Amino acid sequence: MPLTEIIQRIQDEETRVGRAPGSTKLVAVSKVQPLDRVVAVLEEGHRRFGENKVQEAAGKWPELRDRFPGVELHLIGPLQTNKARQAMELFDVIETVDRPKLAKTIARLADELGHCPRLFVQVNTGEEDQKAGVLPADVDGFLAECRDLGLTIEGLMCIPPVDEEPSLHFALLAKIAARNGIAELSMGMSSDFERAVAQGATYVRVGSAIFGERDYD
Ligand SMILES: *Cc1c(COP(=O)(O)O)cnc(C)c1O
Repeated sequence: MPLTEIIQRIQDEETRVGRAPGSTKLVAVSKVQPLDRVVAVLEEGHRRFGENKVQEAAGKWPELRDRFPGVELHLIGPLQTNKARQAMELFDVIETVDRPKLAKTIARLADELGHCPRLFVQVNTGEEDQKAGVLPADVDGFLAECRDLGLTIEGLMCIPPVDEEPSLHFALLAKIAARNGIAELSMGMSSDFERAVAQGATYVRVGSAIFGERDYD
């Protein structure tokens, strides 16, 4: 689907549910995509991208940033503490802060590096064993811990279980954010971004609908 059509569908949904047009930002998820597809989207003027692996991002984005000024890069995959420094140097937003050890490492490195990316906390709304993220019942406490470390958490992020109605998870994430005074909500992917907009997403993360199916071979 052309980028312009995705943006139009986001705006149509914002209008339908009475939100301000443009209040949902699009993160184009470029993981695994061939470089020419990513460059094509950059040439269309889009600048906000998401990657789920530090190593993969390190292999393409420094060069793309030089060619296309103004890129805003989001880390949307799990982050190991031993890659935190590299991630903090590569990404503008880390959406996957999900445990005290990682929060402590980021706080220490922020002091050392003199800068810190914008931070979101990932919430495991479906309480799935195999999925990263803080459990809903633990989020308020974890946010307090982050605050005590001097970290500013701007947003919450979730990936709903594949076999459940995503709107329920989006609504839960919005509720947790509201009671903690958190403004940004990263939720919604290719198959459900309009439902996320309806539930108040401020960022949607769309990959295959923009770039085509990912080829993992
Ligand atoms: C891959 C990925 C997406 C994009 O998924 P699509 O279904 O291709 O839109 C969004 N969020 C996360 C965390 C991802 O890993």
